[in-house]
Amino acid sequence: METKTKKVAVVGSGPAGLTAAIYLSRGQLDTTVFLGKQPGGQLTTTTIVENFPGFPEGKDGNQLVADMQLQAQRFGTTLRSENVEKADLSKRPFILTTEKGEYAFDGLVIASGASARWIGLSGEEKYIGKGYASCATCDGFFYKGKNVIVVGGGDSAMEEANHLTHFADKVYIVHRRNEFRASKIMQNRVLSNPKVQVIWNTVVSAMHGENKLTAVTLKNTENGEEKYFPIDGLFVAIGHTPNSGWLNGQIETDADGYIITKNGTGTNIPGVHVAGDIADRRYRQAITAAGSGCQAAIDLERWLGVQTENYS
Ligand code: NAP
Repeated sequence: METKTKKVAVVGSGPAGLTAAIYLSRGQLDTTVFLGKQPGGQLTTTTIVENFPGFPEGKDGNQLVADMQLQAQRFGTTLRSENVEKADLSKRPFILTTEKGEYAFDGLVIASGASARWIGLSGEEKYIGKGYASCATCDGFFYKGKNVIVVGGGDSAMEEANHLTHFADKVYIVHRRNEFRASKIMQNRVLSNPKVQVIWNTVVSAMHGENKLTAVTLKNTENGEEKYFPIDGLFVAIGHTPNSGWLNGQIETDADGYIITKNGTGTNIPGVHVAGDIADRRYRQAITAAGSGCQAAIDLERWLGVQTENYS
């Protein structure tokens, strides 16, 4: 019987990481996925995924990644509920350190994704989870009958606003320009909802409240006028930051922390490949993440195929 000799790790468990794991383990590599702090990644903070091919009625985001996990396990992937805190990629085997220990691997797929960005106002941290949130799917239920703001003008903001209308009485979308960048279909869904009101050319410039957020200051980006605006909740949907800090500069990134790829999914370190949002500021879709996970796995498998075991 053929045995799996080469050990590979996938850091991250969204569609990119899990697709890589399916291919790697099916390719007879001894594959471990580190699930990270947010197992399943951003898909677990969405509701129905309508644009992943193969599901004509849409598919629940959590269920989609749960099924991907099962598929990876079917081929022998080990799932570890651990977060990789640091890596030593200076020589092979590569060493990954989690809160539970150290592990050695012959090859690596980095698929640690990107995290929601906060507005960046001074003192905003104290309101996180106390009226200030980044995931309507997770927290929307707490705003039944309340008034909330969503900041942003992309597809995420539309999705958050739409979801919040199921609970809140009123959803204000505060956007810094006078047009959305979201896709037309998602814009239309929101703009035709009577619970939604858009406040154009406006940003949140301050937050107020003793123990929780009770009001914000809204600032008009055209004339600079500010007004005090009582609100029960503030949801932010203004993009993402790549989760590349744990690599501690060993892998080349651009100024914003997105990994720079070479020859397909390769990086500056041979044997370290990359997939998904951590290297993609452009598409950031579940299907493109899954596709790049497949590419990273094939590239890594081929690279390992021509390596000798003595890491010279
Ligand atoms: P995004 O498309 O980058 O949009 C971010 C929005 O936040 C923009 O409207 C931007 O304004 C605004 N913004 C950024 N920084 C800001 C700041 N400091 N203050 C106020 N506003 C700020 O991000 P996203 O909506 O998260 O979407 C990311 C990707 O995922 C996109 O490709 C999107 O299509 C995709 N996505 C798809 C779906 C779906 O199809 N179901 C759902 C969610 C996301 P400006 O427009 O002025 O730059």
